[in-house]
Amino acid sequence: MFNLILFGPPGSGKGTQSERLISKYGLRHLSTGDILRSEIAGQTPLGMAAKSFMDKGQLVPDEVVIEMISSALDNNPQANGFLFDGFPRTTAQAEALDKLLTQKGTSIAVVLALQVSEKELIKRLLNRGLTSGRPDDSNEEVVSARITEYEKKTAAVADHYKKYDKVVYIKGEGHIDEIFEALSKEIDGRNAV
Ligand code: AMP
Repeated sequence: MFNLILFGPPGSGKGTQSERLISKYGLRHLSTGDILRSEIAGQTPLGMAAKSFMDKGQLVPDEVVIEMISSALDNNPQANGFLFDGFPRTTAQAEALDKLLTQKGTSIAVVLALQVSEKELIKRLLNRGLTSGRPDDSNEEVVSARITEYEKKTAAVADHYKKYDKVVYIKGEGHIDEIFEALSKEIDGRNAV
C-alpha cells in the first residue's frame, strides 16, 4: 500500500491537490472534513454534534474523527492506499492513525506539507467562501479561528512525523500544476509500505 498525508493549514490547497493525486495514483481519498459535511447534509446525530464545533472554526473531538477514519479503513479493504486530507489534525489523531495502520500491516509512507503564508490563506478562504457555500469559509472570525486551531493543535502533527523522517515541505503558492508536479515527484521517489 501507499499511504500519504497531505498536510497543511486550511486553505493551503489540500482538497484541490488531493483530487488530482487520487486520480493519478489510484488512492482512496479520506477527507474528514468531507465526511463531516456529508454527515451534516444527512442530518445525522454525528453531523449535528460536529456542526457546532465546525461553525465556530474549532476542531471536532478526537474520538469522533478517529472512529470515522477507523470505519473508513475497514470499509475499504481493497484500497491500493489512502490519501489522508485534513486528518490527522492533533498528535492524538496521528498516534491513533499509526496504530490503525500498523494493525493492517502498513504505515504512512510520507507526509507532504504544503506551505502557504497566512495572508494568502485568509485571502483564499474568504474567496472560496463566495462560492463554496461553506459557512466556515464565509466569516473572517471563523477563518481566523481555524488558522489559530491549526497553529495551536495541528502544527504539532508535523513534529510527530518528523521523528520518523517522513515530512517533506512543498511550496503551496504558485501555479496549481507546478505544485502538483512537486508533490508527484516526491511520491514517485518513494516506495509503497
Ligand atoms: P476541512 O474541510 O478539513 O477544512 O475541515 C472543516 C472542519 O471540519 C474543521 O474546521 C473542523 O471543525 C472539522 N474537522 C475536519 N477534520 C477534522 C479532524 N481531523 N479533526 C477535528 N476536526 C476536524
